[in-house]
Amino acid sequence: MLSNSQVAQKLLEIRTLMEMAGESFYKYMAYEKAAASVENAPPLADLVALGEHVKLPGVGKSIGAAIEQLVNTGNSDALDELHRRFPPTLLEVLGVSGIGTKTAAMLFTEYGVASLADLEAAIASGTLAGVPRLGSKTIENWKRGILAYKGRQRRTPLPQALAIARDAMTYVQEGPPLERLTFAGSLRRQEVTVGDIDLVCTSHHAADVVAHFAGWERAEAVLAEGPTKASIWLPGGLQIDLRVLPDHLYGNLLQHFTGSREHNIKLREYAVRRGLRVSENGILNLENGEVTTCAEEAGVYAALGMQYIPPELRSGLDEIESALAGSIPVLVESADIRGDFHMHTTWSDGDDTLEAMIAAAAARGYEYHAISDHARSRGLRQAMDPITLRRQRSEFATLDARYGIRTLSASEVDILPDGSLALDETGLAELDVVIGSVHTAVHQSRDEMTRRLIRACENRYLTIVGHPTGRRLDGSEGYEFDCDAVFAAAARTGTALEIDGQAVRLDLPAPLAHRAKSFGVTFALDSDAHRTGDLGAIELAVGQARRAGLTTGDILNAQPLAGVLAFVARKRNGA
Ligand SMILES: [Zn+2]
Ligand SMILES: [Zn+2]
Repeated sequence: MLSNSQVAQKLLEIRTLMEMAGESFYKYMAYEKAAASVENAPPLADLVALGEHVKLPGVGKSIGAAIEQLVNTGNSDALDELHRRFPPTLLEVLGVSGIGTKTAAMLFTEYGVASLADLEAAIASGTLAGVPRLGSKTIENWKRGILAYKGRQRRTPLPQALAIARDAMTYVQEGPPLERLTFAGSLRRQEVTVGDIDLVCTSHHAADVVAHFAGWERAEAVLAEGPTKASIWLPGGLQIDLRVLPDHLYGNLLQHFTGSREHNIKLREYAVRRGLRVSENGILNLENGEVTTCAEEAGVYAALGMQYIPPELRSGLDEIESALAGSIPVLVESADIRGDFHMHTTWSDGDDTLEAMIAAAAARGYEYHAISDHARSRGLRQAMDPITLRRQRSEFATLDARYGIRTLSASEVDILPDGSLALDETGLAELDVVIGSVHTAVHQSRDEMTRRLIRACENRYLTIVGHPTGRRLDGSEGYEFDCDAVFAAAARTGTALEIDGQAVRLDLPAPLAHRAKSFGVTFALDSDAHRTGDLGAIELAVGQARRAGLTTGDILNAQPLAGVLAFVARKRNGA
């Protein structure tokens, strides 16, 4: 059964193809209006069952029949009929900025351009050169449009997108006066990859702010520019959208553009049942026509009679029910983190010295942290053994006094293929904290890997399993193992699982961390920094922990030092 938004999508497709087929403006716009109406309606399945969908604004008899058919069968005769004339891949061509319905229809009927690949081929072969009304400038714009279209299909890793968003915001701040500026969208929701970047801004000088933004020298092209919004593309096709509204609408604007789409649809459906319509321009009371505007985002949720939902939880799953029941947890924040257990120095494969790393950790305001240089790992040229670890440890007292922090002695130790640790018992016993990671023999069978990780958890010296799945955002999906069995073992043995914030890792992934929490697992949020500049990666780990719904009580390094040492001692003493 199709959801409201899926039905709306199909109605919009019908609308587009009708325009291509040369139907009257009045006829195809009726579908567009119906689509908007459907998006804001209560669940269509219920309405159709009662025959009430035909009472929705903009939905008459014939569109009503199309909706009923879509809801019940997923198909539409009207759409099938149009698809006999226009292939579905034409929507790709229409997805290229600068190509409207008329042009797409012309390209299709006269040049057989039925898909993005066809369009690229036609441009490359010069078929379109010399076509009236298609100057070389137009073709150049289309090339950029194709790039941007592909860019939208390809997603950018969160850490890179965050860095770009910060650069863009710095540039916007340097322009005409504004009140508030922040990023919204999937970036704010801390999704691991983002499709595009949404910036929201409030200012009395909207047009000037927009014009300044459109002039950013890093933009390869300006996709659209209006009085209150603009979109630019960066080389490679990453799109940045900026919207500017008056400050009293900041809360509405931020809520609207943070999404997710699924969350907003569910929120609108809930609101409509209460006689309210939610948009970026405020909350409209459908009975008396009054509009509530919110300067703060929390106001939007309060006006709908529910608990505030943090952006990271706006997935469209069950967060609205939780907010109505008042059961949204208080999520961990960066300020709750008292230390970082995972970082490397020049003693192993890090770029910065021990002193530089201790100074940088202290500068972040940590109460404690751990230096965890590798012990015998991946054939590293330099690795720690019990003697070098002792030597390294002997430097801590002086440096700790100099910088005002407590440095714990730790090591990232390989979990060997049989689940044992690559450091002898004397070496392990002398450490304050032991991180065990899988770096080798990653292609073991699921059963072997499961046994390996469980055996590691059962080692009384292992405090934390580092980057537990081995996934990398730049390629590997990580090794396979029975997550539930390992989560149960971690909880039973008092072993923490890491959320590694290193830009290419973000491991554990948030959905798995959410599941691990249900087993009673404790988590460690770490930077896995190899240089001072990467200690901030712990913020990414916090973001993923928030997406997983974790609270300070779930997190080892949100505890004071005494709590951390007690956690380690409990496991070692077998208590
Ligand atoms: Zn590692
Ligand atoms: Zn590491």
